[in-house]
Amino acid sequence: MNQHMPIEPIAFIDIGAQRRRLGARVEDAVARVLTHCQFINGPEVTQFEADLAAFTGARHVVGCASGTDALLMVLMAKGIGRGDAVLCPSFTFCATGEVVALTGATPVFVDVDARTFNIDPASLTRGIATARKLGLEPKAVIPVDLFGQAADHDAVAAIAAAEKLFVLDDAAQGFGATYKGRRLGRFGLATATSFFPAKPLGCYGDGGAIMTDDAELAETLRSVRVHGQGSDKYDNVRLGLTARLDTIQAAVLIEKLKIFEDEIAARNRVAVRYGEALGDVVGVPHVAPGNVSVWAQYTIRLGTVDRDGFAARLKALGVPTAIYYPRSLHQQTAYRGYPVADGGLPVSESLSREVISLPMHAYLDAATQDRVIAAVRSALKG
Ligand SMILES: *Cc1c(COP(=O)(O)O)cnc(C)c1O
Repeated sequence: MNQHMPIEPIAFIDIGAQRRRLGARVEDAVARVLTHCQFINGPEVTQFEADLAAFTGARHVVGCASGTDALLMVLMAKGIGRGDAVLCPSFTFCATGEVVALTGATPVFVDVDARTFNIDPASLTRGIATARKLGLEPKAVIPVDLFGQAADHDAVAAIAAAEKLFVLDDAAQGFGATYKGRRLGRFGLATATSFFPAKPLGCYGDGGAIMTDDAELAETLRSVRVHGQGSDKYDNVRLGLTARLDTIQAAVLIEKLKIFEDEIAARNRVAVRYGEALGDVVGVPHVAPGNVSVWAQYTIRLGTVDRDGFAARLKALGVPTAIYYPRSLHQQTAYRGYPVADGGLPVSESLSREVISLPMHAYLDAATQDRVIAAVRSALKG
């Protein structure tokens, strides 16, 4: 390549490419909402909830304003609060632990598995014991389907059943993924997801949804979503939120869901190619047998390689990277005071030092994949 040619940077996530593919279909969908003007709880919201129920197999779907609200609403509906402990991994996005603390309950952080980066069942068991020793009552566990891969839901379910905890699956990154051939959305009491634009299924703003097979919980969630309203609109029977999914976002999501399966397949082709081309030089993601990931992130492990230098060399070659997550939750200012499982969280801490994520989306063509691969191999040489 001509050394003086400016290097065109590639996109980390190319939302524009998908936008071009969808074209007028999204504009028409939004235009229909602008015509009927039912911006709150319009027909598209009901339609999208039904589409999600069909897609996941869940009996009930409650659309909401964000993934964070989806998690929080379930904890609120279950009456989680002071004195309760909710177990969750430390190596995750802050919202997982934040919603627990917002209810007044105590998040108890547990470690993750070194291969899948998802909740470690042995650390979960230790964390439950830690919570009891501290005089807290363990009530729930929030496994996270990190970077698009399902957590070990059978192992989590077995521990939760033995310890009488309910499971709230944080599928904000894993929506669309399968575990042992079953789509996420029906593991545990409820599944929360996010439609933030950069998530595998994203809208054009904030959005989220909760899936559950529990009719009573679904009804309570619909009340929490609108200030805890009862059957009479002006009799609020519990505390709630303003947490509805906008009709315009639902209209966009209806169109995006139609191409989602195809996009999941495309992301998996990129991941296979990266894995084959990079597996000899860096730690590439391990997908557990029986899992299909949706690749919210393609996150590699650098071991002892200097991460900042590596990222800088990639940037100079036009390849953007991101670090999810440079600090685990128990290492962050807002969460330092909360307990961690006995034995500490050594895997979370080493992942926070060593991981880096590469460009990943459904529209990454073979030539661009080759550029990423070549850049990674060259940047490793220092
Ligand atoms: C993005 C994310 C959330 C929160 O979703 P928002 O829609 O941004 O509120 C929660 N948990 C995880 C693991 C996430 O990645």
